[in-house]
Amino acid sequence: MPKRVPKPPKMTECELKKIFKVEGVKSARWIVRPVKGMDTTPEAGSIRCKHCYGPVRFYKQKFLDGPVDHVEHVHRVDSESCEAGQHFKGKHSRSATPVL
Ligand SMILES: [Zn+2]
Repeated sequence: MPKRVPKPPKMTECELKKIFKVEGVKSARWIVRPVKGMDTTPEAGSIRCKHCYGPVRFYKQKFLDGPVDHVEHVHRVDSESCEAGQHFKGKHSRSATPVL
């Protein structure tokens, strides 16, 4: 039996919300960055998919030969309508519930 090699995760990059304070006024900016090396528990609402802006869940690599650090869509519907989704059906659209 050939060893089944799992597909590497597609979403190894995400967008991280950075808060800047300019003259006392807070403003947010989304920055694309690799998931690798991120905090284990990013704050809720501080990460999103860089393709559809949908909410994502953070997955840390658990085993040496396991999937590398990555994110996955929280909502199945995002996964189906996002080009980076695991269940992508072929027509990309922005998340109906984007993280802004
Ligand atoms: Zn997406």
